[in-house]
Amino acid sequence: MQNESLTKLDGVGLRTQEKFLLNSIKDVKDLIEYFPYNFVDYKVGLNQDKATVIGVIATMPVSLFIKKKMNKMTFKLQLEDRIIDILIFNRQFIKNLLTVGKKITVSGKYNPNNNQLVAAEILFKYERLKPIYSLKELSLSTFRKALKSAIKIYSSEMKETLPEYLLKKYKLISYKDMIRIAHYPNSIDEIKHLKRRVKYEELLKYQLKLQYSHFTNKLSSKINIHYDIDAINTFIDSLPFELTTSQKDALEEILENMNSDYTMSRLLQGDVGSGKTIVAIIAFYAAYTAGYQSAFMAPTEILAEQHYHKVIKLLPTLNIKLLTSSINKKDRLQVLSDLKKGVIDIIIGTHSLFQDVVEYNNLGLVITDEQHRFGVEQRQKLRKKGFSPDVLHMSATPIPRTLAITLFGDMDISTIKELPKGRKKITTKYVKDKELDKVIDFIKQEIKLGRQAYIVTALITESEKIDLQNAVDIYEIIKDKLDGRVGLLHGKMKSSVKEEVMNDFKNRNIDCLVSTTVIEVGVDVPNASVMVIIDADRFGLSQLHQLRGRIGRGEYNSYCFLISSNKSDKAVKRLKTIEKISDGFELSEADLKLRGPGDFFGVRQSGYPNFKYADIVEDMSILLIAREDAKEIVYNINDENNKVLKEYLKNNF
Ligand code: ADP
Ligand code: MG
Repeated sequence: MQNESLTKLDGVGLRTQEKFLLNSIKDVKDLIEYFPYNFVDYKVGLNQDKATVIGVIATMPVSLFIKKKMNKMTFKLQLEDRIIDILIFNRQFIKNLLTVGKKITVSGKYNPNNNQLVAAEILFKYERLKPIYSLKELSLSTFRKALKSAIKIYSSEMKETLPEYLLKKYKLISYKDMIRIAHYPNSIDEIKHLKRRVKYEELLKYQLKLQYSHFTNKLSSKINIHYDIDAINTFIDSLPFELTTSQKDALEEILENMNSDYTMSRLLQGDVGSGKTIVAIIAFYAAYTAGYQSAFMAPTEILAEQHYHKVIKLLPTLNIKLLTSSINKKDRLQVLSDLKKGVIDIIIGTHSLFQDVVEYNNLGLVITDEQHRFGVEQRQKLRKKGFSPDVLHMSATPIPRTLAITLFGDMDISTIKELPKGRKKITTKYVKDKELDKVIDFIKQEIKLGRQAYIVTALITESEKIDLQNAVDIYEIIKDKLDGRVGLLHGKMKSSVKEEVMNDFKNRNIDCLVSTTVIEVGVDVPNASVMVIIDADRFGLSQLHQLRGRIGRGEYNSYCFLISSNKSDKAVKRLKTIEKISDGFELSEADLKLRGPGDFFGVRQSGYPNFKYADIVEDMSILLIAREDAKEIVYNINDENNKVLKEYLKNNF
């Protein structure tokens, strides 16, 4: 049944098959597992808002054109105990089917005053519970016809996809029942059982993949990185500050992984400014003392450059090179050749660090910055080239435990909980858009004290579609008010120009930087004490938190202004939340609750799994059980009882 072609089914020719493909339905298995996203309950009753009646057509429908493209049709319907009037709009085309004496189901809104039911739907066959599918360019009748014949032809071949012992343990319905109920449910209770099974299976299989990948990572052997602990300690002692306890703990976990037989796959998470980068730099140094090359991958070129300057400052004796698109061809070739020869100790850049043309001599450690995952594929590519480097991902978007387990279940997690001592307070204020002038006055005062300010907008230039402030306009306005010492930075500028503006800001040639969210991550100017975010309601909470993290990095009290003209309850609530909460972890928990997981990161970019029914927040308890089961199963994957799951991994990994 697995891969049977759809063309064997009723009503499916080559052209219809294409339409099924549009919905990612390739074969019979995909089809019968294409579940409705919801069910409508056509419970019979004459309630006003939601009426459903079964009756016999008593009079011939009369239709009437109201306007050019609008018509209405009326007829009487005989119910068991009374007759009612039916009114339906724009359904002229079914008039011929509405013959006197025919039994039909009508649902819609009933008005008892004139005994009239305004029909939303007329069904010729009563179904109490109607599955609602999301289908692109495919009619429901075509879909259901194919589905019906698929279930008829293949029902005897349907195989259970969960082990028997798990079905028993959790009293789950069988695969066959699951398919039947999903498409032809008989009761609300059945749908409950359906969802329970589907949710468990989805979460179990998802966790299974993560745990299996974690497990095989640990098995894939690599060379130990025998770093020189004395040299590392000397380096740490030479830093101008003492590491926080959290930093020390994280470092210890990382070093232990590096000096072990299995490859590291670890997430280092900590709030903005908690000092992750210095931990990364120490890890680079450790790899260097063992004679290995390292790569540092940042999400943007601006960040890569910043990291580069930070790293060369702290490790001046190492050979560290930057590989970005702004480097000229000659230098680039030199870097590539030196990298291959092993002359370069640390290479810093964007994802271009792992293009095919880039060859390493003895790559031992890869560190990636911000939610920029160095995925399974990239690892495999490197493995083919003979490297199995340790990988550390750094994330400044603190992730609630729930999400961490779901998204990063294949990694170990280190968390930096505390901020370095002596951090200055950031005061956050939600301000109505009318008060922008007051905020600008405040910026002027801070500039007089020697500080600098950021102003962030949602757009680069004016947009016809949305009425929001844009960077170019704000730049012009602010430039006037601040005597010209203002810079403009956005994603459409050339890297060399961007770099120049950033340097101007860093060197205090300008007092105020008007920018889009290009400065969201990592930009480090300790003298900046004001962050103004215009149209703040357009940004996610974690994004606002990231932006806020650009200030309060030096010895000065700092101020973040969230400006918004949006007065909706939802927007105000969110902005008040970030006004109150300064801790990133606490904030992301709140964000998750306010928005739900789908929205939390932006589904696509994060690789957040696309479940039929499971929801990692609502179904947290099932998730935790599934995770424990998955761990156990991975260790016993060759057990006869786990055969179907082993097969699943084989086909989906
Ligand atoms: P993150 O990468 O987590 O956002 P950084 O590593 O960039 O944070 O650190 C932010 C700032 O704090 C840097 O200027 C860094 O030198 C400094 N810093 C890091 N660790 C400490 C510490 N333990 N004590 C004092 N300052 C620190
Ligand atoms: Mg950072």
